[in-house]
Amino acid sequence: VAIETFDTPAYESFSQIVDAFARGLDRALAVDVTVAGIAGPVVGTRAVLTNGSWGVDSDELARCTGARRVALLNDLTAIAYSVQALTDDELDTLQTGRGEPEGNAAVIAAGTGLGQAVLHRVGARLIPVASEGGHADFAARTSRELELTAYLTRVFGRASVEHVLSGPGLVSLYWFAHGEGMCPVATHADDGTVSPADVTSAALGGACSRCQEALALFTSALGAEAGNLALRCMATAGVFVGGGIAPKVLPALKAGGFIEAFAAKAPMSALLAAVPVKVILYPEAGLLGAAVYGQAMLEVA
Ligand SMILES: [Zn+2]
Repeated sequence: VAIETFDTPAYESFSQIVDAFARGLDRALAVDVTVAGIAGPVVGTRAVLTNGSWGVDSDELARCTGARRVALLNDLTAIAYSVQALTDDELDTLQTGRGEPEGNAAVIAAGTGLGQAVLHRVGARLIPVASEGGHADFAARTSRELELTAYLTRVFGRASVEHVLSGPGLVSLYWFAHGEGMCPVATHADDGTVSPADVTSAALGGACSRCQEALALFTSALGAEAGNLALRCMATAGVFVGGGIAPKVLPALKAGGFIEAFAAKAPMSALLAAVPVKVILYPEAGLLGAAVYGQAMLEVA
């Protein structure tokens, strides 16, 4: 298997990335099926990157890879396809629950942005359905979150869930938690910038109480939003927490704030307490899901 990582902003099109990939191979590129998971909405045969400058369509996928069969998926749809292929050691349990075999499931993934997908039960199968739920409104539950909503609205003109639950969201929580105060740990003194990893390491290391507040706000809001998602689609078969951030903040997710917020939805608390909640530890779940989808395309051909 050949796996390469390319920095999207450094390329002007998907074709350029495929060309760069092909040049790095020690053999000719021969492709039966191309499946792309794109971080943005797929409309018809075209997808545009939400946090990027270009898009891709099915014709371009076929042309640049030479594949006869192509599929464009939303990136969260791709992660959702991985769920059935993940093994127990690639998952970590936040809540055991009971797991309703006839129920739907859902995936929520915080990384560069916030993605959400539903796995819709059709007979014995779970069929992924994309969403742009990460751009829905952030719902404050506490006076502190109301202050956060006001802060985000001042900065961005509105407060979406992704403004809180993403890498950039962690940085916004950092600025909100520190207010006028300086952070002794996470800020880079030379240019005043801070990265999501700086915030989480300062918080997990116990080095700064304000960074700890930022991470506590993040984990609680992630639990609350996972619960919202579960309610909206009756994800009684399970909720999977994916994305790059969750595996890095596992101790915080397991400290209890996540599950407490997940189930604090009276009168539906008992329903949510029975939902299995698992963190996807496998770092290439989107790639795995695209492979699952591509394999299925080959089998029907
Ligand atoms: Zn700090």
